[in-house]
Amino acid sequence: MSENADTAIVIVAAGRGTRAGGDTPKQWRKIGAQSVLSRAVAAFAGFPRIVVVLHPDDMTRGVREFRGRVTLVAGGESRTDSVRNALASLTGSGVDRVLIHDGARPFVSPGVIARVIAALDHAPAAAPALAVTDALWTGAEGRVTGVADRSGLWRAQTPQGFHFDAILAAYRNHPGPAADDVAVARASGLDVAIVEGEEENVKITWPADFARAERHLGRVMDVRIGNGYDVHAFTEGDHVTLCGVRVPHTKALLGHSDADVAMHALTDAIYGALADGDIGRHFPPSDPQWKGAASEIFLAHAAGRARARGYAVSNADVTIVCERPKIGPHAPEMARELARILDADADRVSVKATTSERLGFTGREEGIAALATVTLVRS
Ligand code: MG
Repeated sequence: MSENADTAIVIVAAGRGTRAGGDTPKQWRKIGAQSVLSRAVAAFAGFPRIVVVLHPDDMTRGVREFRGRVTLVAGGESRTDSVRNALASLTGSGVDRVLIHDGARPFVSPGVIARVIAALDHAPAAAPALAVTDALWTGAEGRVTGVADRSGLWRAQTPQGFHFDAILAAYRNHPGPAADDVAVARASGLDVAIVEGEEENVKITWPADFARAERHLGRVMDVRIGNGYDVHAFTEGDHVTLCGVRVPHTKALLGHSDADVAMHALTDAIYGALADGDIGRHFPPSDPQWKGAASEIFLAHAAGRARARGYAVSNADVTIVCERPKIGPHAPEMARELARILDADADRVSVKATTSERLGFTGREEGIAALATVTLVRS
């Protein structure tokens, strides 16, 4: 049994809040690739029992988004009614504790959740908050009318945690609306412990909150992966150019540029990670100015496009497929050359090779194939 099996999670997302702008209620709007609500649910991934309270109109959408991973409950007229419905759905489930979280707080951290749960060992209720540090004013008609005392004031966050039977009874005794679950608990005489909240645990409310959340996400986890593949045929000649390194051989590679098949694969991997087309789009083979060109131009262009969008190459891995020439002795120099062009650390660039056991066009030594994978990270 999971160590969290005795703790239920209730995520309240039944509001129609459109203060955040747009036609879609804020909990369904996306930050990066995921909705605000999906992120809030994912923050509790270690908990087997999650109840999500949705507006009745959103139930179909909820089924599609969560596919049985959570229990969906229809919300009521007010937030208080919605939480009451969720608690009723957990009656008799045997849970000891419940954390009630706002579906518009997608960045709650494991640390905040753990602090709330730990505090429930010593108190019937616990919630995260931050001490108010800004000065507080009263104001009217665009003028300051007074300065308020901020000492002893806290900014409340969620999840707010409770012993299940205690909060269930508190809701039953509190028929009207309330500001939050702590207010209901206190009205019922429950002692509520304050634990340290976090600035990142923001509630998405206004349009600017989405922009800030995108930036937050960009700082912590905007990683992109791309792959590339290229083939060039052999022709008459005395060397091939691979990853910018001239390697003596009994043949050459045929191509419009210097036919550096490995560098082309890596270049395409970067364009791919950026969803920015491919090498042929940026450097059309029909354009005579690229005839015989050093492929460094292409790779530097792709890396520059990445940099312009805030991405750095985190690592690159290139595989060259051929029987001959032998790549191994040249691989370290090739990796150094790629790292130089990419402006990446040398230990983040890999060049390796394989044969195809004499099978297929590479096995018959009709040409060379190359594959590349790259990760870009926005820092
Ligand atoms: Mg090519």
